[in-house]
Amino acid sequence: LGRAGVQKRTFLLLLAAVFFSFSPRISQSAGTVDVTDISYWSYTDYTRVVVTLSDRADYAKKRLSNPDRLYFDINGSTIKKELKTNLPIGNGMLKSVRAAQFNENTVRVVLDLEKIKDYKIVTLEGPVRIIIDVYGASARPFVSSKKRIVIDPGHGGHDPGAIGPKKLCEKDVVLDIALKLKKILSKEPDIEVFLTRDKDVFIPLVERTAIANSKKADLFVSVHANASPNREAKGIETYFLNWSDDMESMKVAARENQISLKKMKEMKNESDFLDVELASLTRDHKRDESNKLANYIQMAMVSGLADEYPRVVDLKVKWAMFYVLFGARMPSVLAEVSFISNPLEEKLLSKDKYREEIARSIASGISKYMSVTPDSQTVAKLRRALDSQE
Ligand SMILES: [Zn+2]
Repeated sequence: LGRAGVQKRTFLLLLAAVFFSFSPRISQSAGTVDVTDISYWSYTDYTRVVVTLSDRADYAKKRLSNPDRLYFDINGSTIKKELKTNLPIGNGMLKSVRAAQFNENTVRVVLDLEKIKDYKIVTLEGPVRIIIDVYGASARPFVSSKKRIVIDPGHGGHDPGAIGPKKLCEKDVVLDIALKLKKILSKEPDIEVFLTRDKDVFIPLVERTAIANSKKADLFVSVHANASPNREAKGIETYFLNWSDDMESMKVAARENQISLKKMKEMKNESDFLDVELASLTRDHKRDESNKLANYIQMAMVSGLADEYPRVVDLKVKWAMFYVLFGARMPSVLAEVSFISNPLEEKLLSKDKYREEIARSIASGISKYMSVTPDSQTVAKLRRALDSQE
């Protein structure tokens, strides 16, 4: 199971309504944005800290030494002070994460650092989250020369994903395809496969890339089924992460991100953090590689299905801002394997044979991509090599 070894501590800062009657208001001018949750996921040499807010807020960040720490001052925000907001971590990278009301308008979140190599910040909306990825020095040298692939079946648990006219759930279809895909890829001697989930459980979008980053995966493939209010819509498309003005692509991303199309469009205006994300994508050649990987997978799915299912529609490779691909440090794509909202494709998706064919096709696309990608271009492999030299 992909989550093995994950230590998760969530402190839900939920308030009983009764508390308000006893709580002194900080002041009328106090901030209107609440810090509602602070969570972290801790791995061997990587930690993801997620600060959830009730609304958008500006923040300033600063790193200080003696002792080494990284803090964020969130403007116009409050945190309920009776809540426990000191999370001890002690994993070699972070000693702890603390949050407190710094002054009446500012919440300060402090990451007490132990030994880190790098950190990166991404923000998401719906709900607003500040995501801090902290990288430590590798605890032990990486010895495996196997390629690591993380397969991510979308949704799960209380999140069914899209639901077809005959009530087929996306979460069940994509889990089955992912399990089949793992089985096929695992037969290759030089490939290791991990799943973000191997049963019907809910995993937050931010945790999915965290799993891939922590595994130092070479590739990340998220598997989904498409949906549209237009029951006629059908076909297969594969996405990678990039800005898009295409309305149809934005609609797909909005649905997968579980935010409104309006919020999706607004992302462009709130682009400070996204610019950072996209700059790093370009720098690492991750975008080109993701595009290439998407093309191999898309081509393999379309040609793999064409014989048995001649009416399969090739909707090509597209791009949009999918949360599940944010912060991934390796080529990463999201495949929409058919429209569960289309009665004919829902019927196909309910069949074991069709799922098997999709899994086989994705596997063949991944194999082809790896066979044409020189090892030196594989970012994760390079990073593992660098880590083991330290
Ligand atoms: Zn989905």
